[in-house]
Amino acid sequence: MPPPEKDVVLQMRNVCRSFARPAGGPLLVLDNIDLCLRDGEVLGLLGRSGSGKSTLLRIAGGLMEPTSGEVSYLGNQLSGPAEGIAVVFQTFALLPWLTVLENVELGLDALGLAPEEARRRAMAAIDLIGLDGFQSAYPRELSGGMRQRVGFARAIVVQPTVLLMDEPFSALDVLTAETLRTDFMDLWIEHQLPTKSVLLVTHNIEEAVLMCDRILVLASNPGHIAAEIPVPLAHPRNRLDQAFHDLVDEFYSILTSRAIESIKTQSQIYGGLHVLPPVGPYLMTAVIEAVAQPPHDGQADLSDIARLPALGAKDLLGVTEALHILEFAELKAGGIKLTAAGKVFARSDADERKRIFKEHLLRFVPFAAHIRHVLDEREGHIAPRVRFKSELEDHMSASDSEKTLRTVIGWGRYAEIFNYNDVKRMFSGN
Ligand code: ADP
Ligand code: MG
Repeated sequence: MPPPEKDVVLQMRNVCRSFARPAGGPLLVLDNIDLCLRDGEVLGLLGRSGSGKSTLLRIAGGLMEPTSGEVSYLGNQLSGPAEGIAVVFQTFALLPWLTVLENVELGLDALGLAPEEARRRAMAAIDLIGLDGFQSAYPRELSGGMRQRVGFARAIVVQPTVLLMDEPFSALDVLTAETLRTDFMDLWIEHQLPTKSVLLVTHNIEEAVLMCDRILVLASNPGHIAAEIPVPLAHPRNRLDQAFHDLVDEFYSILTSRAIESIKTQSQIYGGLHVLPPVGPYLMTAVIEAVAQPPHDGQADLSDIARLPALGAKDLLGVTEALHILEFAELKAGGIKLTAAGKVFARSDADERKRIFKEHLLRFVPFAAHIRHVLDEREGHIAPRVRFKSELEDHMSASDSEKTLRTVIGWGRYAEIFNYNDVKRMFSGN
């Protein structure tokens, strides 16, 4: 392996990763990833759900091995978790019987410090991350935001050279997430964190533009780096600046064109079978209604949709993808445009909406039509969940099959094309 570039802290070369599928050959999830994390930067990894972000982060953290390719940390090959690399996850498994202080001290277990030193360091991390006064509290006494602060403290307490963060704000409500982001960036800008470099994994474009110095766009099927875009804005950044807005729009248009491509390739690979995003009919309805109204009148930029209250912290691209698959809207570079059917849907009453939804579901989601067909054919009009699950698993990973099945159940129930009993795990016709 050639020597690492100067200032490179963590590097991946030609990294590929595949997973075994329950049926069929291996599923390639990461394809030929080259990436370097440099001293002093916050590097963003932006991609839709399922693009392989968490897999990449786990490999970077030594928590998972690549199938092929190399990972090096400070010039040495990485094999297993390394001292100096810490991870912040979306949510933390805090031990409920331990206090905040004790939970943070857990992060230090592997270092074998003297108890007084461990305590001193844990208290320092607690102060830094804004948990001062909560050291004796138990996790159940904390809000979601405070619990996530404990997660940050547990990562920072080891004074890591590299901090890997996997969607650390995405399980929080919008306001709490913003507060925690701002607090984190204040510490970073003022060099108060004991950390050289940060890798931030996110599906949230504004978050990436707010926090990162450079952003890699991870496109899916299989995950590969589709673009690298520097963010030349000075800190602290302001979401209301024109330059901020322009960059966000640029990312929306890159990601939407990637999403369109990915829906097309999925249909080709799986023969009309899509991995369905985890989005329910009610959220889709809210977005259709909002886009149909003035000032949008049927057409909106994704940055406008991102600000809809109904969307909250939910996955914006997931919703737009769902609308695209069902042909209620057309996904275009940087925005969506309602189709004629989408506009009719927006004007209709509840019963008529159900009817339109049903028609589109049966027409544009072949798997939903297939379930319905199987139920029609079968005596008693019932079929077990596992049957459809294993059919999906012939084409996609177990977790994508699970996600797709859950979504199709939600859509099918709303459209009343079938019933599903959660307890018996059975589909039935009606
Ligand atoms: P992201 O974090 O971008 O949502 P992930 O890295 O979690 O994406 O997953 C990428 C793909 O890899 C998905 O199709 C997922 O189903 C699959 N995958 C992830 N982990 C495993 C695993 N342990 N076994 C099998 N498939 C997996
Ligand atoms: Mg993930």
